[in-house]
Amino acid sequence: MEQKSFHFNEKKRVVVKIGSSSLNYEETGSLNFTKLEHLVGELCNLRNRGIDVCLVSSGAIAVGRQSLGLQQRPKDISTKQACAAVGQARLMMIYQKLFAEYNQVAGQILMTKNTMINPVSRENARNTFEELFRLGAIPIVNENDTVSTYEMQFGDNDTLSAIVASLVGADLLILLSDIDGLFTDDPRRNPEAKLIEVVEKMDAEIYGMAKTSTGSDVGTGGMATKLTAAKIATLSGADMIIANGKDVCILHHIFDDSFTGTIFASDKKDTFRIEDFILETIG
Ligand code: GLU
Repeated sequence: MEQKSFHFNEKKRVVVKIGSSSLNYEETGSLNFTKLEHLVGELCNLRNRGIDVCLVSSGAIAVGRQSLGLQQRPKDISTKQACAAVGQARLMMIYQKLFAEYNQVAGQILMTKNTMINPVSRENARNTFEELFRLGAIPIVNENDTVSTYEMQFGDNDTLSAIVASLVGADLLILLSDIDGLFTDDPRRNPEAKLIEVVEKMDAEIYGMAKTSTGSDVGTGGMATKLTAAKIATLSGADMIIANGKDVCILHHIFDDSFTGTIFASDKKDTFRIEDFILETIG
């Protein structure tokens, strides 16, 4: 299947996920403001094309760790939560300023697993997303790290972004990662590894290609979480793309059907229920 046959320029609702390793300088763990600004510009352009846009942004813990002057990524849950409390507020302050410069309005949605499992909370969250889209605003989502304890955590934003795509009925999910896409083997260790351009079926061979390391110490998701995301997104009826977030211009290249990355083709199953999947798989 060629990229052209996907007609990404006809998509109506897109969820874009960017990870901490794409937003922060690897050497220092500090935010890359130039990249953030470009990302916001790209998202505003998608919005200006008439597409509903939702951003799932990591970075709360990394930004909080910087603000609080911690040298290492925190390991214990209470320090992570304290970092997230500081970092999430700072991150949103930066996003609000940047989106306002492009005359767009952003809103914050923080979710826990409970939000998705409890039918009332799930419906409320869905309604809030719908209303934000109707009003032309751009929801910025993260896990509510300050309150989500171990047993109530999604744990990574790859999965969270797919859950959001499923909840809002997005037709495209884009994971901006620190790797070009799904490879036949880990390209950092095996130079013979080949990029897979299109995945039409999530079968055992594809799952076998998952490697659990991202090679960065600021993010949490590896290829295994991206494949879980692909399963959720495609069964919910969205195409999913893994692309390299080192240059966020890739976002408009995707909508011009000319980019490097892996496309997972939508494989909608009407019987798929996101809440059941969460309970059975992430539960
Ligand atoms: N929610 C975490 C944060 O904002 C990130 C989780 C992830 O990157 O997968 O720091």
